[in-house]
Amino acid sequence: MSAPGPADLTRTSAADLAALLTAGEVSSVEVTRAHLDRIAAVDGDVHAFLHVNAAALETAAQVDADRAAGILLPALAGVPIAIKDVLCTLDMPSTSGSKILEGWVPPYDATVVARLRAARMIPLGKTNMDEFAMGSSTEHSAYGPTKNPWDLTRIPGGSGGGSAAAVSAFEAPVALGSDTGGSIRQPAAVTGSVGVKPTYGGVSRYGAIALASSLDQVGPVSRSVLDAALVHDVIGGHDPRDATSIPDAWPSMAAAARAGQTGDALKGVRVGVVKQLEGEGFQAGVSSVYHETLELMAKAGAEIVEVSAPHFEYAVAAYYLILPAEASSNLAKFDSVRFGLRVTPAGGGTVEEVMGATREVGFGPEVKRRIILGTYALSAGYYDAYYGSAQKVRTLIQRDFAACFEQADILVSPSAPTTAFRFGEKLADPLAMYLNDVTTIPANLAGVPGMGLPMGLAPEDGLPVGLQLMAPAREDARLYTAGAAIEQLLEAQWGGPLWAKAPELRTA
Ligand code: GLN
Repeated sequence: MSAPGPADLTRTSAADLAALLTAGEVSSVEVTRAHLDRIAAVDGDVHAFLHVNAAALETAAQVDADRAAGILLPALAGVPIAIKDVLCTLDMPSTSGSKILEGWVPPYDATVVARLRAARMIPLGKTNMDEFAMGSSTEHSAYGPTKNPWDLTRIPGGSGGGSAAAVSAFEAPVALGSDTGGSIRQPAAVTGSVGVKPTYGGVSRYGAIALASSLDQVGPVSRSVLDAALVHDVIGGHDPRDATSIPDAWPSMAAAARAGQTGDALKGVRVGVVKQLEGEGFQAGVSSVYHETLELMAKAGAEIVEVSAPHFEYAVAAYYLILPAEASSNLAKFDSVRFGLRVTPAGGGTVEEVMGATREVGFGPEVKRRIILGTYALSAGYYDAYYGSAQKVRTLIQRDFAACFEQADILVSPSAPTTAFRFGEKLADPLAMYLNDVTTIPANLAGVPGMGLPMGLAPEDGLPVGLQLMAPAREDARLYTAGAAIEQLLEAQWGGPLWAKAPELRTA
């Protein structure tokens, strides 16, 4: 078999690229160049990247040289990866999609980035996102929105629209995202990609620019379940620099994904269909694809049970108190003194005036809205009524999960209530935007892992629909086994991966 050409290399999975690299069939320079060429050709339209790594080819050449010298390399050595701009990188700007951090180059790497480098993966660049990861469409990025490769007039989801679009436009085989309320799973859903929010504490948050520290998790984005697992294995595991990092050892997610590909992995698995995460407010095509997928799973031997999580109804409301509260505290450090932008009013000013002028220019409207909401919710006199109540709801949601997991091994729902919407459709109505995360937020509030994977195209608009799987905390491996099994069933039906049905992008 001849090695794939550049166009094929950008459509090859990370797992297959790793095998080709190990066998010496292609070099990392060839693989990296193919992706950089693809970025040059399509990213003018897609705008997935805020920064492309000028050193990518050089890093790839070093991997090739080490391989040629017979040095034993890690499994994914030489495979490129895109990195959400929320993650600190020593050698590239890290803006979190905000003007207040424009051009800021951190003095250290996030642990997950350091682990990618240790695995000898090739960072392709930093991907676009809603400012400080607040949003569901990337329209809140200070650097302009990313477009959905399936339809350039539509949003790629958010906040991690850049990572999902990069993967779905074949600009990168895999990417890193962060998920505070759905920012990995929702973009994955609307771009036909796979995305995983690990168990809280399963992947280090050190060097991830914090949005809401009790909810944030870094995770993989990819075009296949196995690829997500391979990246998860690289970035996951205990980090002494993150006080919330779980110290235990984790099983191999890649092994779990491979176990799902054996054909009978769904047999006897109790799949809990969450009653509150479907029905009213869900697009008809999302519901029909969802129910077809449930039938397919039942035919493969899964036991479909209906489960009820009565407090999920309050998840969005609780989240939009807890998140702004934590965010207002986390963003206080952007004070014009320590990082990035400084705006001095004409004629000078006091420290407070400089701070005010900087934050006025440096923060966008959604960030300001949430800082105001958060400081209000935390203020004396309102604290118990708002923040205190939200924390109680959080406990009730955790109990709902515990009760559901008595009846089911995994829980399922659509990953998002609709397919990709058009630019501007929800921008003027923050509440409509917030409701996009109705399916994904419960997992963040409870700290449990969630996976989104493509389950089909909605009949009314031909756009991707995502399936969400959730498992008990620390049972991420269960998601990979079930996810890989479902992916296999669906691909048998489609005659190949869903991404093969994506329309061809115009190239420059
Ligand atoms: N869309 C949600 C929000 O705006 C989730 C964001 C995220 O997961 N970072 O907060």
